Amino acid sequence: VSRRLIVLGATGSIGASALDVAAELGERIDVVGLSCNGSWRDLAALAARWRPAAVAIADEGAWRAARASGAFGDGVRLLGGAHGLVELAASGEADIVLNGIVGAAGLEATLAALGAGRRVALANKESLVVGGELVAAALGGRILESGMLLPVDSEHNAIWQLLAGKRPEEVRRIVLTASGGPFRRTPAEALARVTPAEALAHPTWDMGPKITIDSATLANKGLEVIEAHHLFGLAYERIDVVVHPQSIVHGLVEWTDGALFAELGAPDMRAPIRSALAWPDRAIGPPAVALAELSGLTFEPPDLDRFPALALARAAGQAGGTAPAVFNAANEVAVALFLERAVGFPDIAALCGRVLDRHSPRPVDSLATLMDADRWAREETRSLGGRKASAVTRP
Ligand code: MG
Repeated sequence: VSRRLIVLGATGSIGASALDVAAELGERIDVVGLSCNGSWRDLAALAARWRPAAVAIADEGAWRAARASGAFGDGVRLLGGAHGLVELAASGEADIVLNGIVGAAGLEATLAALGAGRRVALANKESLVVGGELVAAALGGRILESGMLLPVDSEHNAIWQLLAGKRPEEVRRIVLTASGGPFRRTPAEALARVTPAEALAHPTWDMGPKITIDSATLANKGLEVIEAHHLFGLAYERIDVVVHPQSIVHGLVEWTDGALFAELGAPDMRAPIRSALAWPDRAIGPPAVALAELSGLTFEPPDLDRFPALALARAAGQAGGTAPAVFNAANEVAVALFLERAVGFPDIAALCGRVLDRHSPRPVDSLATLMDADRWAREETRSLGGRKASAVTRP
């Protein structure tokens, strides 16, 4: 029996890995929907190959251009705008929606898919970081136990596999690994001078630009701590982070008796995607990482002085309410400013810290509350980032 799959963010890095796995699984996967943000020509090429029933182009201008071009032909439903994306996520006879959208823009699609009873393979960590409460509410308060949300983020996927069939009371803590990024050994003084090109050169993982910068600042690991809190229902004190530069161990679980279990694999997003798309079965995949060929696995604590974004994200998670949404939005804008060379590398975390300082978290009662906080944080970050230079430096 084949599974009908919708891939959201199909033209991005996660989308490419997902379609690789779909090709590998052959008859077991039927691609019925694809989406992109603005890269409609790339999407047209994917649609020609996969022949989905429907596609969505989130960017309105790109959608109009795609419609005018006729590039998709008559055989495919061409949806557009934020509404079109949500419609695709909830539409059709899909069994599973893989959400590979970058940023908070992915939350509504996750909620729409879950609301329509679709299983979601979640690579969009912001769905949980920003909207953890709403996702939990959509799943009756039991995200993991519902079996409707399958984590694709590599660390969470590893821990999810380790936890299968276990009870939460058996867990003492979980550990997320971080590569440490390209600046793991860079002195604090030198971080102010690093360029976008240097920050984009990730030592182990090949990913999109936003998450690669987040890996360099450790903001990514901070977002993942919040993601893990919602996904596994664990208090923040029971979620640890360790720097592991080889990126072979993706996540660990310490049981109450002190036994420590780890999941090992090459740093390749196709592995977690494969496990989610085949779940609850196991796919036939490539051989495991060759232990005798590893040069050594090392672990060290993260340096919170040079990489304050990790501690800021954790604090935002602990503050709860709208604080994680504000951290996330500030970080999205600060990363964009850094990539445009409008602010320096340490300014990314500094801006997040200043915007969080100006925010009084509110309880999350609706998507509208979150979107308000998100919008406010983006404006605030842009305004502070525009006035930066000497005003915004590391605290
Ligand atoms: Mg990850």
